[in-house]
Amino acid sequence: MSAEQQPLIAAIEAGGTKFVCAVGTGPDKLVAETTIRTTSPRETIHAVSRFLSGAKAEHGPFAAIGIGSFGPVDLHPTSATFGYITTTPKVGWQHTDLVGPLKSQFKVPVGFDTDVNAAVFGEYMWGAGKGCDPLVYITVGTGIGGGVIVNGHLLHGTLHPEIGHLHVPPPPGRDAVMNECQCPFHKNCLEGYASGPAILKRWGKRAEHLPPDHPAWDDVSEVLAHGVTNLILTLSPRRIILGGGVMHQSHLHALIRSKIIRDLNGYLQVPEITRQMDTYLVPPGLGDRSGLLGAIALGQGALRMKLQTRKR
Ligand code: ADP
Ligand code: ZN
Repeated sequence: MSAEQQPLIAAIEAGGTKFVCAVGTGPDKLVAETTIRTTSPRETIHAVSRFLSGAKAEHGPFAAIGIGSFGPVDLHPTSATFGYITTTPKVGWQHTDLVGPLKSQFKVPVGFDTDVNAAVFGEYMWGAGKGCDPLVYITVGTGIGGGVIVNGHLLHGTLHPEIGHLHVPPPPGRDAVMNECQCPFHKNCLEGYASGPAILKRWGKRAEHLPPDHPAWDDVSEVLAHGVTNLILTLSPRRIILGGGVMHQSHLHALIRSKIIRDLNGYLQVPEITRQMDTYLVPPGLGDRSGLLGAIALGQGALRMKLQTRKR
């Protein structure tokens, strides 16, 4: 089906600092888009619904809504709090129903998942992970998070993957006190060492202001390589996508690749790792739009489910 023939989907990438909303069919067709600052749940959700109503009036109805949200979120379809942001540390947003108000206002199916599961889905459909299954997407930004596709499905479980909190050895040597993990929950986790705020705390400068030869990058790539190595060993992914603000330092990808090869130490003899590492661990194909476009894919998934249920 061409982009013209596909039904419009409303997409919401719900983040801790901003909600990016759009209406469209995929990367080739977005008919409306806006960014809304994340304030209180009431105000933010109201602004989202106003944008969607306006887009509907201008471009016609959309067939489904897809939401990729910061979390943790409740993804169990039978749970009383399905579609909620649950125990987030973000003030005012604990136990916020995101799906309910939009579903009751627009009366269309809603696909709901984590922001990073949306991103991995977007990359799987249209980006750097097309057809790669299992596929892992990791964002290294204000926090670190990851989404996973396995057997064509987004990976859910007791909760959802929380890759940012993988336990890893601390960055090597130098200064043990300075190298402290910044996560309030853990003593040795990925996010506590390699997120943007952790880099700022450790080195006293925002990550975007550190030159490529700064020693910070050796530490950051070291811990990220440990985390990714563990994911390679557990999930056997066909590709790994590393995105987010910190990964705008494009030299990091090469550093991480070489450290993974060093850590695996010849144990996994597969061409992806022994010869094709440059195409195995890659930046996102959709730039900073993996999550938003993934939300469209989530909406399309919810629509498919509804049509299948009707047929039965
Ligand atoms: P968020 O995670 O909040 O959705 P981003 O993925 O943009 O947003 O991540 C923001 C973090 O990325 C900040 O901590 C910032 O310091 C860092 N960052 C943004 N741009 C760069 C850059 N070019 N190089 C390194 N770090 C960056
Ligand atoms: Zn942690």
